[in-house]
Amino acid sequence: MFTDVDGGNILRTLSEAKKTYGNDIVFLCSFSNEDMIIFDTICRNDLDIDIYTIDTGRLNQETYEFIDQVSRDYGVRINYLVPDADALSSMLANHGPQSFYESVEKRKLCCKIRKVDPLSKLLSNKKAWITGIRSEQTIERKNSSKVEINNGIVKINPLIDWTYQMVLKEVEKRKLPVNKLYKMGYRSIGCEPCTRPLYPEESERDGRWWWEGSSKECGIHTSNLGGGS
Ligand code: SF4
Repeated sequence: MFTDVDGGNILRTLSEAKKTYGNDIVFLCSFSNEDMIIFDTICRNDLDIDIYTIDTGRLNQETYEFIDQVSRDYGVRINYLVPDADALSSMLANHGPQSFYESVEKRKLCCKIRKVDPLSKLLSNKKAWITGIRSEQTIERKNSSKVEINNGIVKINPLIDWTYQMVLKEVEKRKLPVNKLYKMGYRSIGCEPCTRPLYPEESERDGRWWWEGSSKECGIHTSNLGGGS
């Protein structure tokens, strides 16, 4: 199994991971600031790691514009994971297009169909994936480490021990493009109906599913991916 080699150098971690897993490793990108650091490292160094994003169909217009912009500017192909048409259409027919506001159960069903299942399907054919999560983001991520294994699939989190300030500094240092939503007060990039800008005293995931008192996770970092979610 891949073990981290770098002590903080993202490029070395990603290069080593690519060497270990070849075409069986993917990067899952939400186009957050964290993910742009990884995205930039992959593209600038021609690491040849396939980049995927989950298109739930409910992202902010600003995010779609941003994906277009960076894909053009970097000259890189973005692969889209989309929900299964039958599952989506059945959920919409049974519960309507805004059922996520009605209960935690219905919100989780929507996240499962639009995010977790498409990712799980991709990972069932891969050996490893790279994410931009940080441990300070949620309770569930607190005990995550730089390299994890779940259901036989290796998950590499190069920024796991970074603070938000470190992310901002790196974004500035590399002069990375930034999703407009950050200027509008967002600190987390997600689906438009389920994410809002933050008030000053709130922590970074408080803008996700703010009407719930439950977990600030959609399931992609907490489910058994690759073998059924
Ligand atoms: S974040 Fe909201 S819209 Fe997006 S998949 Fe989850 S419940 Fe559905």
